[in-house]
Amino acid sequence: MARKFTTEQARALADRVSYYRDLGIHDFYRRSGSADIAFDSVVAEEVLEPLEAEPEPPLPKAAALAKFPEASIKDPIAALRVIREDIGDCTRCVLHKQGRKQIVFGVGNPTADLMFVGEGPGADEDEQGEPFVGRAGQLLNKMIEAMGLKREEVYIANVVKCRPPGNRTPERDECDTCSPFLYRQIDVIKPKAIVALGAVAAKNLLGLNDTMANMRGSWYDYRGTQLRVTYHPAYLLRDPRQKGEAWKDLQEVMKYLGLEIKKQAD
Ligand code: SF4
Repeated sequence: MARKFTTEQARALADRVSYYRDLGIHDFYRRSGSADIAFDSVVAEEVLEPLEAEPEPPLPKAAALAKFPEASIKDPIAALRVIREDIGDCTRCVLHKQGRKQIVFGVGNPTADLMFVGEGPGADEDEQGEPFVGRAGQLLNKMIEAMGLKREEVYIANVVKCRPPGNRTPERDECDTCSPFLYRQIDVIKPKAIVALGAVAAKNLLGLNDTMANMRGSWYDYRGTQLRVTYHPAYLLRDPRQKGEAWKDLQEVMKYLGLEIKKQAD
C-alpha cells in the first residue's frame, strides 16, 4: 500500500527531486516494501494518496465553451488553429517565465476517435514542440500501436502546455489556468474516448481528487465522451510491473471503440 504523505511533504519531496535534477542527478530511489521504486514528480502523482480534500477543479461547462470563437467553425483544423492563436505567446500562468522554450499545443488527428491526455511537456517535448516525444512518448507510441492504431490516428495533448521546471508536477493554479484550452481542444475534436494518462490528467478532466487506484477501472462520462484512466507512461517506465495493468485499461478502451484485441503491449 502506498505510503501517505501530507500535501506539504509531497511538495517538499517534489522540490527536492527538482533540485537534484537541476544538479544533473536524474536517478534516485526510495525503498517501498521489498522493491525499489524510482521516484519523480510523475511517480509521486501515481503513488501518493491525497490526504487532504482539496476543492475540486472547475469542470468545463458546455455553455462556457460555446462562447469561444471556434464554436461556430465547422472545420476542426481551422477551429484548432483558432485555439492556438488564442493561446498566442501565453503569459497567463507562471510557467511562461520558468524556462519554457515553446508552447506545446497538441498533435494528431483533429477528428480522432481516441484522445490521450497527459500532464505537461518534458524537456524533449519543450525542445520539439510536440507532446510525448521523449522516452515516455516512445512507450506511448508502443501502447498506441498495441491497440492497433498509429500515432497519427489519435490526438495527444497535455493539461498544461508549458514545461514545468525540473519536470515538477504542475501546480493547481497552473492547471486551472491552462486546462480550458485543453477542454476547447476536446470540444473541437469530439473523440469517442479519452484516455487520461496519470493522476494529474484524470483529476483535471474529471474534477476529482482521488487516488489512481480508485480512478482506474471505471468508465467516466466527460461531457458525453467516455473517459478511462490509466498510468502515465513515465510511471510505467519506472515501474514496468504496472504495464499489464495499463494494458487492461487500454483493452477496455479497445473494446469500447470496437478495435480487435490481438497482442499484448510490452
Ligand atoms: Fe499559458 Fe498554459 Fe503556458 Fe500557462 S501553461 S503560460 S496558461 S500556455
